[in-house]
Amino acid sequence: MLGHPEAPGRLRTVLTSLEDAGGRWELEREAALSPEDDTLGVVRWLHDGALVERLRTASQAAPGYVDSTDNPVSSGSFRAAVAAAGIAVQTALDLVNGRLTRAFLAIRPPGHHAERDRAKGFCFFNNIALVAEVIARAWGVPVLIADYDVHHGNGTQHMFYDRGDVGYLSVHRYPFFPGTGAGDETGEGPGLGMTLNVPLAVGARDAVYASAFEAALEELANRIRPAVILLSAGFDGHQSDPVGGMGLTEEGYRRMTRAVVQASETWSEGRLISVLEGGYHPGATATSVRAHLEELAGLEDGVS
Ligand SMILES: [Zn+2]
Repeated sequence: MLGHPEAPGRLRTVLTSLEDAGGRWELEREAALSPEDDTLGVVRWLHDGALVERLRTASQAAPGYVDSTDNPVSSGSFRAAVAAAGIAVQTALDLVNGRLTRAFLAIRPPGHHAERDRAKGFCFFNNIALVAEVIARAWGVPVLIADYDVHHGNGTQHMFYDRGDVGYLSVHRYPFFPGTGAGDETGEGPGLGMTLNVPLAVGARDAVYASAFEAALEELANRIRPAVILLSAGFDGHQSDPVGGMGLTEEGYRRMTRAVVQASETWSEGRLISVLEGGYHPGATATSVRAHLEELAGLEDGVS
C-alpha cells in the first residue's frame, strides 16, 4: 500500500545490495518453497485456521486490511505471506535434514508480532516461530530465539510462553509498540525462566544495546543449552530508521551478530538461522544486512 513502511522496496534494496557485493556468500534468489498446502499445514500448527482464511479473503477483496489498519492487504499479500512462511518451513527442514547449518532469510512480510489468532504490527504469519516449531517437533531439542528488532516480539513470546523447549529473549525499546516485553515477563509453567526481556529506554546506542543483548544471550543460552539458535534480525533500531527511535549503527549489528555466531559455536555446533524482521529505512537496512551477513559468513575484512 502506498506510503506504508513495510513495502516490497525494502527487500529489493537489500537484494540489490547483496548482489552488488558479489559472490562472498551463496545467494538463493528464488528459494525452494514447500508447496502451499504443506506450508499452510505447518502454519496451522501455530496459527488459527480462521486467521489464514481472513488473510486469504482480504487478499481476494483487496485493498483492505486484516485485523487492524496496521495490516493493510493487497491482492498479493496472501501469496507473499505464504511464500515467506514457506521459506521459513523449508529452511527449518533443510537444517533438520543436515542440508545447511547457517542461513539468513531475506523475507517479508515480517512475523514476530503475529499472534496465534491475529495479524499485528505488519505481521501475518510468525515466520521465526514456524522455524522453531518445525525444529522442536522434528528433533525435540531446546531451541533459543534471540530478537534484536527494536520492537518486542509479542507473538513469538506468547506462542512459547509456557513451553520448556523453546526459549525467547528480546532486547527492545520500552515502553513502545506493541506494549509487551517488560522485564518481569519471564514465562510460566514449564516455560518459567525460558523468556528473558531486556527493555531499553529510547535513544539507546551501540554500546548499551549490544551489551544488553550479549549479556541476555549468554544468560539464556547458559540456562537452556540450545541445540539450535534462531535470530529475529530486525534493523529498525538503526539510527536512520524512521520508526525505531534508537541509535544503532552497522557496528552495533556486527557486534550483536558476532555474539550470536559465537553462541552458536559454543552451544549448537554452528546451527543458526537468522530471519529478517523490521527495518524501515531501505538504505540503512541494506547496509546493516550486509554487515550482518559478513559476520554470519565469518568475513573478517568485510566487503569492499
Ligand atoms: Zn520492529
